[in-house]
Amino acid sequence: MEYIPKILIVDDKPENLLALESILHETEAEIIKANNGPEALKATLHHEFALVIMDVKMPEIDGYELAELIRGRNKTRHLPIIFLSAVYSDEFHVFKGYKSGAVDFITKPFKQEILLDKVMIFLELDIQKRQLQELVVELKNSNTQLKMLNERLNHEVAERKQVEEQLQRYTSELQEANEELSQYAYVVSHDLKAPLRAIHNYAEFLREDLEGSLGDDQKAYLDGLNHAVQEANMLIEDILVLSRVGRQNIGFEPVEVGTFLRSLITSLDLPDDVEVLMEDDWPTITTEPVLLRQIFQNLISNAVKFNTLSPKRIDLGWRLVEDNCYEFFVHDNGIGIDPGHQEKIFRVFERLHTKDEFEGTGIGLAIVKKAVGKLGGTVRVKSQLGEGSTFFVTLPRTTTH
Ligand code: ADP
Repeated sequence: MEYIPKILIVDDKPENLLALESILHETEAEIIKANNGPEALKATLHHEFALVIMDVKMPEIDGYELAELIRGRNKTRHLPIIFLSAVYSDEFHVFKGYKSGAVDFITKPFKQEILLDKVMIFLELDIQKRQLQELVVELKNSNTQLKMLNERLNHEVAERKQVEEQLQRYTSELQEANEELSQYAYVVSHDLKAPLRAIHNYAEFLREDLEGSLGDDQKAYLDGLNHAVQEANMLIEDILVLSRVGRQNIGFEPVEVGTFLRSLITSLDLPDDVEVLMEDDWPTITTEPVLLRQIFQNLISNAVKFNTLSPKRIDLGWRLVEDNCYEFFVHDNGIGIDPGHQEKIFRVFERLHTKDEFEGTGIGLAIVKKAVGKLGGTVRVKSQLGEGSTFFVTLPRTTTH
């Protein structure tokens, strides 16, 4: 809405008011008329004026008193007042007028243009004052908004900090529980070894003592007993390895992966129908050799084990990937893995086959995953049933802790 400034004109003579009104018509301001002091005061209560033009000589309250009353009120303290007077035009009265709060004193008769010029200046000032007030309001608003935003931000930061702290607490609780569990697994597995050994020994004593008198069935029972003990031993060994991953390290050192893999393959004593194809050049990484061995030993053993073809082929290779990492792969032409099971095989005791089909404890890939994690890397598999499998291990070029 467009702002229209208001001018209050005060004179006890209606003809003067009319004359003034017609002069001020040109300013396009809204003119409010008052015939005396009390009426003028009342008008200042209801309207906000840009300017007051008043006669000095009026009955009841004269112009000086009225000006003082207007100036005395907080709301109208800065309201500009122009006195118009024919009677008191001497210096004494002009000065008195200024003292009571007038900003100008025009003596009658006056030139219309002079009055108009002066009025226009005050109207302009009023418009500027208003713009400034609006600006102040806007500034205050944006300041409040800024404060609110700041508060919200502070609140969010505090909340996030709380969540982070909680997360940290959970993580360390989880770590502790994990640590306790693997310690527990270690102790239990370790302590089970002695009674198992005893069972095996007693079974052998029985076999030796009853050698001649054992029937075929009884011999088969003893064989079964020994086989069960062997399986239990394997399980215990694997649980011990899993719980020890990352605990008995020999430290980080530069490892030329090609040489490392060749010596590992020799030590694995693979069946004759296994063909290993390796790239010639390999990178050197700074890593933990015990963990690296656990990773590749399990992957290569699986590549041989879960393979019904002859010859069994294993491809080993690598490539540089981003973030200063190497991606190594172990590819086989074995039975393959259903994509639906590719996540769960990394969990402990998860197997996709029975022991009759393929021997194992279901711990190998859990060891791989834990060891890779300790080295700050990742492991994944790509495979289709019947189409072989490729395990990818990504490791940092340098791991030092
Ligand atoms: P285990 O070898 O003792 O069974 P793992 O944890 O090493 O235990 O493997 C879990 C399961 O993942 C295996 O039982 C097998 O079903 C599947 N698997 C692992 N490696 C391969 C592979 N190279 N090809 C096909 N299946 C595999």
